[in-house]
Amino acid sequence: MEKKGQFWNEKIEMLPPKEMKTLQWKRLKRQLRYNYENSVYYREEKFHRVGLTPDKIRTLEDFQKIPLMTKDEHRWVQEESLRRFGHPYGLITCAPREKIIRINSTSGTTGMPTLYTLTRHDIEVLNEMHARKYWRAGLRPGNIVLQALSLSMFTGGLPLSDGLQAMGLCVVPVGIEGGARRVLDFALLTKPDVLITTPSFGEYLIEKSPEIAGRQADELGIRWFFCAGEPGAGIPSLRKRLAEGFNARVFDHTGGGHAFHGISCDSIPYPGMHFLSPDHCFLELVTPEAKLPIEMSDGAVGEMVFTFIDWEGGPLMRYALGDLVQVFMEPCTCGWPEMRFKILGRTDDMLIVKGVNVYPAAVKDIVGEFIPKTTGAMRILLEKAGPLVNPPLRMQVEYGFTEMRDQDKEQLKKELAGQIGERLRVRPSIELVPPYSLPRGSGKMPMIEIEKDG
Ligand SMILES: [Zn+2]
Repeated sequence: MEKKGQFWNEKIEMLPPKEMKTLQWKRLKRQLRYNYENSVYYREEKFHRVGLTPDKIRTLEDFQKIPLMTKDEHRWVQEESLRRFGHPYGLITCAPREKIIRINSTSGTTGMPTLYTLTRHDIEVLNEMHARKYWRAGLRPGNIVLQALSLSMFTGGLPLSDGLQAMGLCVVPVGIEGGARRVLDFALLTKPDVLITTPSFGEYLIEKSPEIAGRQADELGIRWFFCAGEPGAGIPSLRKRLAEGFNARVFDHTGGGHAFHGISCDSIPYPGMHFLSPDHCFLELVTPEAKLPIEMSDGAVGEMVFTFIDWEGGPLMRYALGDLVQVFMEPCTCGWPEMRFKILGRTDDMLIVKGVNVYPAAVKDIVGEFIPKTTGAMRILLEKAGPLVNPPLRMQVEYGFTEMRDQDKEQLKKELAGQIGERLRVRPSIELVPPYSLPRGSGKMPMIEIEKDG
């Protein structure tokens, strides 16, 4: 199939929002009926328990009466299926066993991994979502992709390699498991022009390349760097380091083994990731505590809830993963039409200051906007573990220039406190500290410090 232009699937990707809404609603209704008919668990626990049947769902408000599902409940459903049927697939898997041809899994770093069950149709959906992302970023058959993320069954492993291959790219699935040496050896050997990995591993490769590969990372031939697992392109200083370190365009992207996919564009300032799968995944926002619906208006912040609307295997329905997102409904400067989102952090990280919910990631986001006056690094100091905080919210922020004058520091503190106050409705007490004085581990920098004897 010959593809031209900027989009993999132009008809769908350029569909006006109103028509997309119609399509979503049609697919949602069809999916709800399918879930009701094929999963005893959905039928009893998500419909009958609250007095619903698919026929009674005529509006968004009706749909939102369906109880949310969490990751813990997903685990419980697997256990319960194991107990009842002797396998973990029974309760929310809607397709017959012989149609299920792949199991993907979350990494399960805490607790039992949650499983995604996929039919051939679902795998095709997944591959199309990958194709939409990479095609928009400019990849075409002929590009060679070093997939240095995972070799495993996890969603960023084999399913990702399959997706890259299905759209006609050449994939070198080197994984991250063999470390920097193996990745760099294969970069020299296979001549990739695309690299997919975590931004922190990307930084590590830049550092190690002269020693291991005998050349700077910008001489490896990488022209596209795709950040996965952690934000990279959304953090200006990190984006700059990766872009200059590899001499590559840098993108954030998300979406592995399921129907929720997004990718960032080149616009500056960073406008979030474009949501590329509205025809397969219906998004909602809810308040993190009471789980009440929040309207999807421009700038709205809430816990993300998703429902697969074109899925056969184990279709997730009103699934709340605990991710806090901000959505943007106004058109992006790049011209791509759909809504965008930023992943702000986990809802578990939430703090409460005088009744106002504050997310450390949202605070960090604002501090990052003040680069180069700050380094972007900050931490919140708590007397005891959250979420309740004795006001004021105390924080340390690294200023950006060693030779900063006292009056400039006072001005910076004022501007920072002003922005945080205005946008997050909380007045912080800020202490400025010298650049690179806050502790930095090898992994993600902790945003909260709990003072032992406070
Ligand atoms: Zn854009």
